[in-house]
Amino acid sequence: DAEALKRLTIENHLRQAFERDEFMLHYHPQLELATGRLSGMEALLRWHNWDLGNVPPLEFIPVAEESGAILSIGEWVLRAACKQATEWLGQGLSVQKMAVNVSVKQFMHPDFVHKVREVLVETGLEPGRLQIEIPEKLLVSDPEGAVPVMHALKKIGVLIAIDDFGKGYSRLSRLENMPIDCLKMDRSFVCGIGGGSEYRSLIRSILNLSNGMGLTVIAEGVETNDQMDFLLERQCHQAQGYFFSKPMPSAEAADYLKRLTAQHESD
Ligand code: C2E
Ligand code: MG
Ligand code: MG
Repeated sequence: DAEALKRLTIENHLRQAFERDEFMLHYHPQLELATGRLSGMEALLRWHNWDLGNVPPLEFIPVAEESGAILSIGEWVLRAACKQATEWLGQGLSVQKMAVNVSVKQFMHPDFVHKVREVLVETGLEPGRLQIEIPEKLLVSDPEGAVPVMHALKKIGVLIAIDDFGKGYSRLSRLENMPIDCLKMDRSFVCGIGGGSEYRSLIRSILNLSNGMGLTVIAEGVETNDQMDFLLERQCHQAQGYFFSKPMPSAEAADYLKRLTAQHESD
């Protein structure tokens, strides 16, 4: 059927994506809500195929995960993002951390922690400047497998974030005793701020519980001033979203960093 054909087409084109140099990263700022300062950048993969045009990650990443291509793609992303962070730091631009998304298959691969260590050594990035964003569903599908990997990453000094938290898979109590630094609150919560009181009280309890557990909370998908005000009032730590900026290609992100750095030096 049409869906299967589309997946097959994507899978075939993905095979040549490296030779054709079709991947690039965009960078999305993560901001400290109380101060407006940058707390990090998230690397987001972009694929422009000669035939299919721009294919969104939500379309090709599941295919890559199924075919196994995600392992080489994920390694490329990790290396490119760490390299970029080192380069920016070398230019005097302050990027406190670089956040990199990993898929379940990549995270659970026996070689993953070794690869992370290798890339850090190779690129010279301090481990504490790398944040690995793992999908929330991993906490449900294979917590026994995932926790030892998290511990191994913490041992190197890498930060760990749970992405899209609250999307419906997981409870906060599950995170107790897991070596996690940061919770990324799913965009659906932020979207719900303007609606009924239900989402607002959910956000409040996520923030309360996270504070108790010493977790940093990043609100995803902030698009309006009202959403930002609400989150600021509730003392949510950090935020990301189109309200502040869209994800940017490398050169534009560097300009953005230059502007922020100059601004903070004059503060
Ligand atoms: P994510 O990691 O949760 O990234 C956030 C997504 O929301 C990004 O979409 C971003 O562009 C978008 N976004 C950010 N702020 C807003 C906003 O205010 N409004 C709206 N409507 N959207 C916003 P993108 O780049 O299409 O990525 C989608 C997902 O694909 C990511 O979700 C992540 O799960 C996955 N992904 C992206 N890059 C990689 C990668 O290198 N490796 C892996 N394994 N997954 C990746
Ligand atoms: Mg993410
Ligand atoms: Mg997310």
